[in-house]
Amino acid sequence: MKTETKQCQNCPDFLNFKQQLRGCYGLRKKSYCILNKQYSKETYENLKEKIIERMRAGREWGQFFPKSMSPFAYNEAIANEYMPLSKEKAAVQGFRWQDDIPSTKGQGTMDNSKLPENPNEYNDNLTQEILTCEKCEKNYKLIKREIGFYKKNKLLPPRQCFNCRHALRMSKRNSRNLWEGVCAKCGNVILTSYKPEDQKIYKLYCEKCYQQEVY
Ligand SMILES: [Zn+2]
Ligand SMILES: [Zn+2]
Repeated sequence: MKTETKQCQNCPDFLNFKQQLRGCYGLRKKSYCILNKQYSKETYENLKEKIIERMRAGREWGQFFPKSMSPFAYNEAIANEYMPLSKEKAAVQGFRWQDDIPSTKGQGTMDNSKLPENPNEYNDNLTQEILTCEKCEKNYKLIKREIGFYKKNKLLPPRQCFNCRHALRMSKRNSRNLWEGVCAKCGNVILTSYKPEDQKIYKLYCEKCYQQEVY
């Protein structure tokens, strides 16, 4: 809500000028705007005080946007990848949940059995085809640059949609939790994202020992 310094578009520095903006988005070299609408300095100052007073009374001032304003349900937001919740637990915390996330199905123009089975067999027409995910049956397409990458790296085209491929990648990562572990070199207790079972499989080092080993 409160933007009084503005970050440079090209570097991490903050530009050294004061802007008077409230709830605005994407404005450049503007002042005295509220929700992207331009006001005179006097009206702006007046409205600003009223808005702050009302937000303080509603205990909204200084808080992040409320959950009720989120355009995404919890299960379709990245939040669910970092801090997964069940539908029930999400509801308890006041998040919205969407059972049927909209998707395109049944529009496929090509059977997966016709996809190239050899990286030298890519056909230029593949970008025109609508493919069907073998896991969730949602439709997806491949773009030219993507096919170029697969060809160059001698990879076969994916048979799953990008959402299923993303979910597979995420499932291979450690969950966002920290457990205590022991450095395999110096024996110091460390915090690690590897859970106790995995600590028996992998050799974990503290940061100092790791840096000494790597460099
Ligand atoms: Zn899929
Ligand atoms: Zn160590």
